[in-house]
Amino acid sequence: MTIEVLFYIIIGILTLQFILETSLEVLNAKKYKDPVPNELNDVFDSTAYQKSQDYKETNYKFGLITTTFSFLLTICILIFGGFEWIDSTARSFTDNTIVIALIFFGIIMIGSDIITTPFAYYSTFSIEEKFGFNKSTRKLFFLDKLKGWLMTIVIGGLLLAAIIWFFEWAGSNFWIYTWLLVAVFSLIMNLFYSRLIVPLFNKQTPLENGSLKSKIENYAQQVGFELQNIFVIDGSKRSTKANAYFSGFGKEKRVTLYDTLINDLNEDEIVAVLAHEVGHYKKKHIIFNLFASILLTGLTLFILSLFINTPEVSLAIGVNTPSFHAALVGFGILYSPISEITGLVMNYMSRKFEYQADDYAKNTFASTPLITSLKKLSKNSLSNLTPHPAYVFMHYSHPTLIDRIKNLKA
Ligand SMILES: [Zn+2]
Repeated sequence: MTIEVLFYIIIGILTLQFILETSLEVLNAKKYKDPVPNELNDVFDSTAYQKSQDYKETNYKFGLITTTFSFLLTICILIFGGFEWIDSTARSFTDNTIVIALIFFGIIMIGSDIITTPFAYYSTFSIEEKFGFNKSTRKLFFLDKLKGWLMTIVIGGLLLAAIIWFFEWAGSNFWIYTWLLVAVFSLIMNLFYSRLIVPLFNKQTPLENGSLKSKIENYAQQVGFELQNIFVIDGSKRSTKANAYFSGFGKEKRVTLYDTLINDLNEDEIVAVLAHEVGHYKKKHIIFNLFASILLTGLTLFILSLFINTPEVSLAIGVNTPSFHAALVGFGILYSPISEITGLVMNYMSRKFEYQADDYAKNTFASTPLITSLKKLSKNSLSNLTPHPAYVFMHYSHPTLIDRIKNLKA
């Protein structure tokens, strides 16, 4: 295949993705003003519903601007030889392939972060602020950015260096060693995420003794679930939006409740949310997701190994000197339609799992407090009650509120 054809395939993929994403957003926005289903009449009062409409509209327009901007930027970088400029800049410092790749991705990462920071800043301090969600300060915002950079540089840098070293040492078989490394890394991250990464950004404290803790412990005992670690995280220092999640497994498993969740919900509702999380664990969703992502990584790396030695993949993104890192960028775009499809499958599975976890909470605890908690959480995050089915199919990892309530009432 000629380089030119490959170049147009890359531009074509990016353009089609942009058109698909934008059409989905437009379709979804067309349904904002649809009548609210009867079962959801009590979620918002009329003032709050108007506020949620404004929030959706604002985010919709802002989203269109950001996606259009990043699409045009990517196309310009491809057309005007941006990757060649970055590559030759990196090569002007050193001859070492690993260091060149680190500088290459370093420039891309830091460059794109600097370009997108104004958008993130506007989203946090204008949009989220206006609708009363934002609790973050400018200092915290930039401190988060800095920590995120340092983390990416250390973890991403080490992984990238290892992968290129594998490539130089094992040739096309690099994918097997990379796969092993990534698998071990994901396992460790899954187990110790709450111990290693979360403390960099948040404070976690064990749930204090009291009626909530005894209710949770009673429930856990009743379903035979060993739960020593229940933590409260200070989510309120950034946003009023509430959440709860489960992490780790075996002895490392823990439930993390946002302090905002504890403020918003009553005790029965919190236990119901927790029962849902326990459902994910009992139904083995956590292990399934971990293994599915490890398998998918293996598949992706294997396909990457088939293309990594093809100079055309580097040349097609405009880089004159074919290399592992340039081919990685080209492959990333060429592979994105496949990852789009695997993403769809994972979202589909995730929605199935949500129903199963809801059913588990319903059967082992109760459905009513789960329904009221879901309604409260939707109200407090001004969420969309009438999403377009196509949008749900493509993007939602959770079923819609109305579908979850129908399932819980069935
Ligand atoms: Zn869930």
